[in-house]
Amino acid sequence: MKDQFGRRVEYLRISVTDKCNLRCVYCMPMEGLAWLKREDILSYEEIASVVRTMAGMGLKRVRLTGGEPLIRRDLPDLVRMISAVPGIEDISLSTNAVLLADQAEDLKSAGIQRLNVSLDSLRPDRVDAISRRPGSFPKIMEGLDAADAVGFSPLKINVVLIRGQNDDEIEDFARITRERSWHIRFIEMMPTGANLDLSANSFISCAEALRRVRAMESIEPVEGPFGNGPATYYRFPGAPGTVGVITPMSHNYCDRCNRMRLTASGQLRPCLFGELETNLRDPLRAGEDLVPLIEETLRVKPERHYLIQGSAAGSGGLVALSQTGG
Ligand code: SAM
Ligand code: SF4
Repeated sequence: MKDQFGRRVEYLRISVTDKCNLRCVYCMPMEGLAWLKREDILSYEEIASVVRTMAGMGLKRVRLTGGEPLIRRDLPDLVRMISAVPGIEDISLSTNAVLLADQAEDLKSAGIQRLNVSLDSLRPDRVDAISRRPGSFPKIMEGLDAADAVGFSPLKINVVLIRGQNDDEIEDFARITRERSWHIRFIEMMPTGANLDLSANSFISCAEALRRVRAMESIEPVEGPFGNGPATYYRFPGAPGTVGVITPMSHNYCDRCNRMRLTASGQLRPCLFGELETNLRDPLRAGEDLVPLIEETLRVKPERHYLIQGSAAGSGGLVALSQTGG
C-alpha cells in the first residue's frame, strides 16, 4: 500500500474501545465523552476481517489501542484472531497498564509482541493528579512488573510532557534508562478540543527535554528498539535503555508516516488529525468489498497534519486522542 507521496503504509493502529478507566488531563475530559453505542462498535470478528482484507493489500503490523484496550473483555481472543492472519508479522499494544498485571501473561501467549505503557510521572500523587483516578499508581507498577516478568521486550514508556506537572522529572525518567532496558519516550502534547488551555499554556518541547538530559551526561543518537514509530532515540554511554523523543509539534515527521487508523466504530482514518475518514463498518456489515474503500482512503492520505498550538482548528473536530487511538 503506497500513498500518493510514495509513503508505504504497512501499519494499522486499531482502537478497540473509545472508553477509558483514566481521565488523563491532556487526553479525556473529566466527565468522559459521548460514548459509542455497543452496536456501533466493531466486533472482534469484524476487526479481524478488516485486518485480513488489509493484510491481503500489504499490511504487516498492527497495534491495539483505545481508549484503554484492556477494559474490553477477552482482548486475548482478538490477539489470537489477528495472529492467525497470514502476513501479519507483529502485534503490539498501547496501554495505561492499570489492568495489565492480570492480563500480561495471556496477552503474551496470545501473540502480543511489544508493549507501550503510558506513565507520566514516577510519583504516586502526581499520577493521581494527571490521570484523575486516585489509586492508579500501584496498579500501574504491578502491571509493569508483570510485563517485565513475562518478558515483554522492548518495553516503551510514554511520557507526555506537561509544564508544572511532570517537567521536573525529566532527569528522573532519563536516569531509569541507565538501570533498566526501558525506552523512555518524551512526547510533545498535541492540542485537541478537550485540552486547549493545557496544551497552550503547559506545552514543553522535546528540545527542552533533551537539553536537560544532555546536561546530565552526553548522549549519543542510536537506532532505537524495533518499532513502527516516529521517535528519535538517544543513549547514555553503556546504558541498557534509551531516551526517545516524539515531536509532533516542533518537528513533524509526517513525511515518514507509515500508518492508518481504525477507530472503534470502524472508521478508517488516513491521518490522526483532520476530518478524513472512511466508514468501513457499514459496508462490511452489508457484505461489500472493502478493498476499493481502503484504496480510496490511502489515496487521500494527507501530506501532513496542520496542528496549531492552542487551537482546535488543526485537529479537525477531534476532541480527544482516545477517540482515534492516539
Ligand atoms: N490508553 C492507552 C494509553 O494511554 O497508552 C492507549 C490510548 S492513548 C490515546 C495513546 C497515547 O496517546 C498515550 O501514550 C497517551 O499518552 C497519548 N496521548 C493522548 N493524548 C495526547 C495528547 N493530547 N498529546 C500527546 N499525546 C497524547
Ligand atoms: Fe485513557 Fe490513554 Fe487517554 Fe489516558 S491517554 S485518558 S489512559 S486513553
